[in-house]
Amino acid sequence: MSMRAVTFLGDRAMAFVEAPKPQPGPGEVLIEIQAAGICGSDLGFLYRPSAEETAAAPSAYDQWTPSVAGVIPGHEPAGMIVEVGPGVSHLQVGDRVACYHITGCNECRACRSGWMLHCPTYRSYGWQRDGAFADFMVADAKSCIKLPEGVSSVEGAYCACGAGTAYQATKRGAPAGGETAALFGLGGVGLAGVIFAKAAGARVIAVDPIPLRRELATALGADVALDPAAGDAVAAIYELTHGEGADLTIDYSGSSPGRLAALDSARVWGRSVFVGERNLTTIDPSPQILHKQLTLHGSWVCSWPVMDELIQRLAREALPLERAVTHRLPFDQIEAAFRIADSGECGKVVITRDAG
Ligand SMILES: [Zn+2]
Ligand SMILES: [Zn+2]
Repeated sequence: MSMRAVTFLGDRAMAFVEAPKPQPGPGEVLIEIQAAGICGSDLGFLYRPSAEETAAAPSAYDQWTPSVAGVIPGHEPAGMIVEVGPGVSHLQVGDRVACYHITGCNECRACRSGWMLHCPTYRSYGWQRDGAFADFMVADAKSCIKLPEGVSSVEGAYCACGAGTAYQATKRGAPAGGETAALFGLGGVGLAGVIFAKAAGARVIAVDPIPLRRELATALGADVALDPAAGDAVAAIYELTHGEGADLTIDYSGSSPGRLAALDSARVWGRSVFVGERNLTTIDPSPQILHKQLTLHGSWVCSWPVMDELIQRLAREALPLERAVTHRLPFDQIEAAFRIADSGECGKVVITRDAG
């Protein structure tokens, strides 16, 4: 039995390949993929690099653990369990699940706290082990989170990395009711961040140069949306806060201007969170951090329990996560989906199951 999977060829080219349909081993399940999100890191590390870079380092993503060549990409998996391996008792065929996208040894302290991300032997779906851009995926039963009624596979996939990352960053920044939170970068992660900061009761100022993303942020609850290309966003944030600056600023962009604006628009005794990946940024610590008594957090992905908490909240509360998903394309149109995600003229883009 074979299945379809996707491989990246470099220079924004990709192809379908036939791969053997995997079999679940002990402690594993086989998932029929129903939704697989496209994450910014897929674009930056897999889709955009040149053919030479792709050939030399099929996944240049990881500075921490060398990635394995030939891995099926896709690290936001959700679907239905169609086979259960030996020793799995809490999951059954027919269960709908999303997968926390990092697996570990399950024994070390990082794993036992649910932060498999910091396991010395961590392996992520789509980077170090086969992922979700395929018809089927084998997952560790321990990484599966059952989707409650009312939580869609698309939402589950979104939580596996993008929305989970924003949820954790929001927890780190801990906006309180009545505070002002300024968020920089409104891609799939930043838009989810707007929803969570708003749900915490903050006044949200959302910043992004792309008009469609500002419109989406406003539709998702942002109180003010600023175009950093049209004027000084930092000055505008001071104006909106009686000259004090924002209580909390979060950079979801990963760009140097976004990070610097996050530092500069935070108030004295404020908090900043850096979430967006890559790029070098030169900081002048005295004026930008020390003299304003700033608390600066780094926030990387989330833990298994935090992803679980988010999914349970989605079942209970009317968080408009589904509305941040602007494009749902069937698997056979994954190439078009990547082109849309790459253009930036979108919110979250999610691949869904097609007839095959
Ligand atoms: Zn991701
Ligand atoms: Zn471990």
